[in-house]
Amino acid sequence: MTGSRQHVWRLLPSASPSAITSAMLRILPLNPESLAIAGREIRAGRLVAFPTETVYGLGGDATNGAAVAAIFEAKGRPRFNPLIVHLPETGAARAMGRFNDMAETLAARFWPGPLTLVLARRPDAGLSELVSAGLDTVAIRVPAHDGARALLHVADRPLAAPSANRSGNVSPTTAQHVADELGDAVALILDGGPCPVGVESTVVDVSGDTPLLLRPGGVPLEDIETALGRSVPVAGVADAIRAPGMLESHYAPGLPLRLDAGHANPGEALLGFGPAPDATLNLSEAGDLREAAANLFAYLRELDRPDFTGIAVMPIPEAGLGRAINDRLRRAAAPRE
Ligand code: AMP
Ligand code: MG
Repeated sequence: MTGSRQHVWRLLPSASPSAITSAMLRILPLNPESLAIAGREIRAGRLVAFPTETVYGLGGDATNGAAVAAIFEAKGRPRFNPLIVHLPETGAARAMGRFNDMAETLAARFWPGPLTLVLARRPDAGLSELVSAGLDTVAIRVPAHDGARALLHVADRPLAAPSANRSGNVSPTTAQHVADELGDAVALILDGGPCPVGVESTVVDVSGDTPLLLRPGGVPLEDIETALGRSVPVAGVADAIRAPGMLESHYAPGLPLRLDAGHANPGEALLGFGPAPDATLNLSEAGDLREAAANLFAYLRELDRPDFTGIAVMPIPEAGLGRAINDRLRRAAAPRE
């Protein structure tokens, strides 16, 4: 935050700092100078709001778990839903997700553009676990907007970017909407004018043998069906297993979870939070919720092995990101159907 303000003052040499409103400090017209600043902010793990052809995105480095956690924090999301990873071209997408024939067809026809593909995630994708909310899939989009593409190139990172609004509010289609919604949570807002499409991307799951429409959006379903030469079912409640966030036990590890534990019982692994010398793994020794969120899914996976009889989890405060962490832990601890 402090770093970005200094940069901005350098860009606006004639304005005295006291005359600059906080909104002016954060919104910059999209140009090579502001893009260079934005690229540095992203690489430093901070968040940048930027225009795409659909809506404004709240972008952070998708390889940096703490940056991804900061996105959830800024949006005030009560749950960890998986985020869309934005990439500059299809080649980069092939390195992160597995492309079958359907994925190749849709990418060739609609990328760059307002289509998101849910793909099986490559183990060596280098993405944070939190970006997929612990799933084995990853949602990828190659945007068409020149400003978004320029940011992807200059930042040189895959960008995790949900819509740049507070959770539950409508998606922003101007830089001012973003400023009104997110205030200080972003280091910088790149102003590229109103978004031309104005609705979110269409999300199609092509991770399995049959395609599934998870969310209608900028690319009409009919066009997708024409490209694939088959009908594409629309996800309903019965498909909850593929539309994360709806399912109580989807994220459950094989081992039973015991929440709010003070210590591990014999045989249990202890997942710590805060000072805990006996912890098998510690989400954050410093008690930092952002760090804990970034580690959550990777550590649950790591402890989920037959050497233990269960996983005891120390208490996490029910505030800020702690709510989303506890939501996920409670789902993981819920009895199986
Ligand atoms: P937003 O973050 O607001 O752009 O919304 C992202 C959409 O993509 C939501 O509907 C998510 O549920 C969906 N999504 C993202 N990643 C995945 C995934 N791995 N599997 C299924 N749906 C996903
Ligand atoms: Mg949204």
